Formats: sequence, C-alpha cells, structure tokens
Amino acid sequence: MKELKEILNTVLKEKKGYLTFLTGAGVSAESGLPTYRSVDGIWIKGTKYHRPEEFGTYKYFSQNQEEVWQYNLFWKKMIEEAKPNPGHMALAEIEKLLGDRFRLITQNVDGLHQEVGTENVYEIHGSKHKVRCSQECSEPFDFPENIPSKEYTEDLTPEDIDNLKCRKCGNWLRPNTLWFDESYNEKNYYFDTAYDIADHTDILFVIGTSGSTALPVGIVETVKISAKWIILINPETETYFDYILKGSKTLYSIQESSSKALPELKALIEEILNKKE
Ligand SMILES: [Zn+2]
Repeated sequence: MKELKEILNTVLKEKKGYLTFLTGAGVSAESGLPTYRSVDGIWIKGTKYHRPEEFGTYKYFSQNQEEVWQYNLFWKKMIEEAKPNPGHMALAEIEKLLGDRFRLITQNVDGLHQEVGTENVYEIHGSKHKVRCSQECSEPFDFPENIPSKEYTEDLTPEDIDNLKCRKCGNWLRPNTLWFDESYNEKNYYFDTAYDIADHTDILFVIGTSGSTALPVGIVETVKISAKWIILINPETETYFDYILKGSKTLYSIQESSSKALPELKALIEEILNKKE
C-alpha cells in the first residue's frame, strides 16, 4: 500500500480538512446483517413476497402499519444479535487517532459504529434504535423499552400495538429510517451536514457501498469535483461508484473486505502520525 501511504502522509501533514468515511451495507454484512437489497432482504408475509422497494415505503406503511412493524421488530432482533466486526472497531480507533478531522457518514441503521464507541457518526438513512410519530408531532426518540423484538413469525399483541402509538396524538409511531418514497432532509437525516462535510473533506473513504442511493452519490460527486482523494474499499469492483469515478486521477481502489482493509488502514495512519518529524 505504498501509494496510499503517500496520499495519507501528504493529507495528514499538509492539509487540515476532514478524513471522511462513508460506510454502507457491506460493513454490516460482515456482522451477519443481510444487505437490504439482497435476496435475504426480501420480506415474506404469508405467501406474499415483498421487495424492499415495495414495502419499504411510506405508502405501504400507511396502509399496513402492523405488518411493517412486525418486519421492523424482527429486524430489531437481528440487530440486537449482531456483533460489531473488526472494521467497526478499526474505525473507532481511527477516530481516536484523527480526533476532530474524523467524520463518519453511514447508510447503516443498525448503530454498530456507535456500539464500539465511535462518536462522530452521521446516520443519513436514520436509525432503527429510534422511532418518531408518523404524523411528525414530535422529535425522534429512543426505541421504547416496552416494545419487544420479535421472531420472524410472531404477530404483534394488542399491547404491542398500544405501545406503538404516539403518546401525544394517538397515531402510529414509525421507525426513524428513510423509506424509498421519501426525501432526505437535515432534521432527521443530516442532509445539509453531509454536503458540508463533503465540501471540507481531503480524503473520502467509500466503504462497502455501491452507490444505489442519492445522497451517497452526491457526497462522492462533491468530493470528486473538488479533486480531493477518494479511496474505494469494496471486494466488488463493478459498482456504480467505480463507474462514475472511472479514470479519475484522485481515485484509489482497495479490493478488499472492510474487516480486512480497515485494520490495515488504521495501522498505516498510526505509523504516519507516530513518526518523528
Ligand atoms: Zn404524534
């Protein structure tokens, strides 16, 4: 990784902008969480198969609240059982090394980055650890403790249904995550903050994400236009990001899984920062 070392050395010693890490489903997949768009992500209810693009929408929720909550309580269970992997841990250590120059923008909604102590995390697709009123009468708040996670086949009880209603207005609560038919915003999803971070980034690490949603693509394009370094970390090399960055002089690709590449990156940053001037 000689060339990467030179890039890091220059940025760490001569520049002042952020080292920004953009993480996606590939990082969580190494903790056993299914990627949302893979076959595993398909929700089967009775004999009906639903694709995420169909049921992961506000429209579907507004007609099938119980079913969508049943799916989300099953996800809650999978998240509770998932353990952070070496990629998550390396990022927490990189934050300690970089201090205020570290920013982490994640598409993941599982909270695994925070679980290992990473602090500067911006969840641009929301968090499954929070809920909010579906009629937007209040701010997002932590998942109520009286709502249990569920097995795949378990139905909601009348008590669950009652606990899943907003205490203020009586309407359904909803997961604090972005659905496919909704727009990004600053209030719930750090839309403006993400662009502001991109504007002040010296190196963007794009990790385990393929570029299938709008804001991550916008972040990558912003960094590309300002001719700052973009480091792709992904075992796959035919992603949309590879396509839009093809031929870029400020692109560096690491064709490895995040749980292998990030501990190596952490060691490299440590080596550069500890070297005597
Ligand atoms: Zn309400």
